[in-house]
Amino acid sequence: MLDAPHPLFPSLPRSVACPLALILLLACSSGCGGSAPTDAPADEPSSRMEYALAVHGGALGSLDSLGAERQARYEAALSEALSIGEEILAGGGSSVDSVEAVVRHLEDHPLFNAGRGAVYTHDGRHTLDASIMDGRDLSCGAVAGVTRIRNPILLARRVMTESPHVLLAGEGAEAFAAEQGLGFVEPAHFDTERRREQWEEWKREQEAGAAADHGTVGAVALDADGHLAAATSTGGITGKRYGRIGDSPIVGAGTFADDRSCAVSCTGQGEEFIRHGVARRISALMRYRDLSVAEAARRVVHDVLSPGDGGIIAVSSTGEIAMEFSTGGMLRARADSSGRREVLVR
Ligand code: ASP
Repeated sequence: MLDAPHPLFPSLPRSVACPLALILLLACSSGCGGSAPTDAPADEPSSRMEYALAVHGGALGSLDSLGAERQARYEAALSEALSIGEEILAGGGSSVDSVEAVVRHLEDHPLFNAGRGAVYTHDGRHTLDASIMDGRDLSCGAVAGVTRIRNPILLARRVMTESPHVLLAGEGAEAFAAEQGLGFVEPAHFDTERRREQWEEWKREQEAGAAADHGTVGAVALDADGHLAAATSTGGITGKRYGRIGDSPIVGAGTFADDRSCAVSCTGQGEEFIRHGVARRISALMRYRDLSVAEAARRVVHDVLSPGDGGIIAVSSTGEIAMEFSTGGMLRARADSSGRREVLVR
């Protein structure tokens, strides 16, 4: 075979030029020309949103009974919550403040299954769960099974910032709330006509196995400093008993935030979200498999969970938002610094 001149070293015989070219190539790929270290953040600050926010008001089992009037009330409430959170972010406030304010607002709204509008337990009470996480340092706080705290998300944040613990439950959590001077209400504060009717219906139709609505609320945010946060609050599922706790106060299942990947808040059948570690799984797919937040969310909601299990909202460290669900609908809203703003139900 003809020994044609090598393109880089035409004066050298090919048997010498080829190994030489290979050595040069290897040397360059391992650092010549000042290339960035391999563990540098994938996105330069200029390619990320200044801020981004997503909110959910729960996954809806079916849209059949959702009339125009209730849809309009959901949309108005979500839009209001979105504006509250966005104002904080646009003013340079932190993602933790933003998600707390959004969730607190929705907890005070009787339409959602969190705080004021919480569902009824098997024995006609309300037990509330909430969690919050700061993606800067993985600090987090959660409460489960509280019955007299007006805004469980505020208590979850105090657990995060004022205690050495991550999750407090029941009476102990309320004793801590009293020490912290947080607002208590009578348990009847959480009674609403619509949830009572749902409970009555649930008692009549327990065996029917109808698709349930999950009115849990949650928010995820990226702030101008590049920090992520997530918060979730719920009354759980109608008719729950035996001290049942779902995914909402379980960090890694219903809530997760890590500046290196994303912030996630979930809604749906809590047992499945705990079993599959949904929120943290989405983060792990981004960190270790290099998936985008949209692809990671899609895989977990549709390939790991089963149809009808629920949905998630997530925001990445560059401000990309994913809102994925496998139920009839999910109450959701998003806004970011590019001016994009959406409130969606279907
Ligand atoms: N995930 C919540 C729970 O299982 C319920 C919901 O999202 O509505 O407690």
